[in-house]
Amino acid sequence: MTGTAERTHWEERYFQAEIETMRREELEALQLERLKATAQRCYQDIPFYRQAFDDAGVRPADLQSLDDLRRLPFTTKQDMRDAYPFELFAIPVNDGRVQRLHASSGTTGNATVVGYTQNDIDVWGDTFARAIAQVGGDEHSILQVSYGYGLFTGGLGAHEGGIRMNSTILPMSSGNTKRQVQMMHDFGVDILACTPSYALLIADTAIEMGYHPATEFKITGAICGAEPCSEGMRREIEEKLGVVLVDIYGLSEVMGPGVSCECQHQDGLHVAEDHFIIEILDPDTLEPVPDGEWGEVVFTTLSKECSPLIRYRTRDISRILPGVCRCGRTLRRMDRVTGRTDDMLIIRGVNVFPNQFQEVLASFPEVTSYYQIILTSDGPLDHVILKVETVPEFDFDEIRRIEDLQRRINAELKSNLQVSVEVKVVEPKSIERSEGKAKRVFDLRGDVR
Ligand SMILES: [Zn+2]
Repeated sequence: MTGTAERTHWEERYFQAEIETMRREELEALQLERLKATAQRCYQDIPFYRQAFDDAGVRPADLQSLDDLRRLPFTTKQDMRDAYPFELFAIPVNDGRVQRLHASSGTTGNATVVGYTQNDIDVWGDTFARAIAQVGGDEHSILQVSYGYGLFTGGLGAHEGGIRMNSTILPMSSGNTKRQVQMMHDFGVDILACTPSYALLIADTAIEMGYHPATEFKITGAICGAEPCSEGMRREIEEKLGVVLVDIYGLSEVMGPGVSCECQHQDGLHVAEDHFIIEILDPDTLEPVPDGEWGEVVFTTLSKECSPLIRYRTRDISRILPGVCRCGRTLRRMDRVTGRTDDMLIIRGVNVFPNQFQEVLASFPEVTSYYQIILTSDGPLDHVILKVETVPEFDFDEIRRIEDLQRRINAELKSNLQVSVEVKVVEPKSIERSEGKAKRVFDLRGDVR
């Protein structure tokens, strides 16, 4: 996708080559065996699934091939909320085997709660460690974890990966950005794990503090997930920090970060198919779409003991990339998630994901990756203001240049996304920075819709 040719001198790194390059037939046999066991356990130990299977007229014993997965019922986020707190657990919480609980923020209803046995945590560590290997990390590396620690799965997920890899872990969590930079420099950190917007803030803060991290810091890799990252933003972080950035994907309901991860070719995220079956479905018909076509991502867990999930509808939009990757991994690749069906904005009848604005902005060297989308009502019509920030080198005093830039961005958005927006170019550093996931969309249209 991007110019990775200069990186091919890197030795290909596998953390678990025997799995990551397994022949497809063997992998599918392994998936089927684990799927049967998972379905059996769900039916036996979780009343919700017994009911759902019975309602669908299917029994675990009916699973004779991977195609039979399509006969199984779906699980939705609402099902998980309704099961609050522990009704979807296959193991009672006080049983002695449940080692940890994580939960989603639950801003719109009950939180979704997920339990982990020691084996669940080990699997998580394994899959995250694959990502560490992708950026050249090993037991000699220092891994700075700047995802938030806590109920959110980012911090502890990366932490488990570091343990599994035997790396030296620096558990920074998010916040106190100057100290993050200072320790990254003083300790000789090799790999950073955090959200892309926080990686950018760390890079910018380092530069403000007078450092030139691309050449003065030891860091060579970044593992960034939990929010979309455009190619432009990736390049900006890579250049400022002097790293290779790989995108990692996961969601707390399914496990946390590590469900899929890019390799150094940055051409799709290899799914940990030994632990998860991915399906891409048409969100309306819920029928599978062919490889290469976009649809809703649905996961079935294959090895989770405490919180197994059958056909969990993530509401994330992605697609399977056809063909095999140059790295030799046989694990299939999903494309980077363009958005969640929940995040989709409907602007004057046109469906747009916030990330699509970011992709368009990436083609303008005059602006940074910081932007905000503000939606208001203009009578019955939607009005969109897109605030974008210029790079420091841009001459902000020349009004003609500002107007020209606004006009060009507007035209590009119109031709790419078919939406008309009011572009407001603002001075460097006037858009609020984020230490975790960036808030980019402000919908002030009210509840009258
Ligand atoms: Zn690859």
